[in-house]
Amino acid sequence: MANQRKQDKSWAEIDKWLEEDPFGLDEEVEIILFKCLDCNGTDEVPEYIIGEFSLDKKRGEEVELHCPHCNGTMIRARNIPSD
Ligand SMILES: [Zn+2]
Repeated sequence: MANQRKQDKSWAEIDKWLEEDPFGLDEEVEIILFKCLDCNGTDEVPEYIIGEFSLDKKRGEEVELHCPHCNGTMIRARNIPSD
């Protein structure tokens, strides 16, 4: 009986742990706006995608994505001086 009770307790703890959202799945995903250097098209990219691309980059190096509109080069829009 003691073992059974202990198991129930641990399940309760797991439920609590899950309710606390340990993986942050309910957090709003940050969206980064990318702008194409070639066609000026824009694309909204989730921050975690950028993070994956950043793994191949040196510190401070710009993440570049392929433009879905013209297959050109997209960089973070905030890095482009506004005109
Ligand atoms: Zn483009």
